[in-house]
Amino acid sequence: MSIRDWPCCMCPADNIQEAREACGDKCDFFLVFEDKRGWIYFVRPGLGEKQFKAFYLKPGKTGGGHSCKNLPWREYFAGAQEDLNAFAIRAGWRVIKEEVPEFV
Ligand SMILES: [Zn+2]
Repeated sequence: MSIRDWPCCMCPADNIQEAREACGDKCDFFLVFEDKRGWIYFVRPGLGEKQFKAFYLKPGKTGGGHSCKNLPWREYFAGAQEDLNAFAIRAGWRVIKEEVPEFV
């Protein structure tokens, strides 16, 4: 599967829920990744829900995950997803469609 480092034409800039509904499984921008250790990476809003960035979960863990400290907070979800996708492409992470955290 290809990974875009920019939003598809359906992706809303700032709403993950809408992106999930509009793009569904067809989107190659709104993605969740897994690295070789089985850590899962995804974008979600912070507590104020006004800023977005990438978070990770270690294998077997649930919840909101931990902040990826090397990626910045962004005003829009699409901006944070661009950061994550570009990083994932360089790192060679695989796209997962299963085991997507509830709140994504
Ligand atoms: Zn999309």
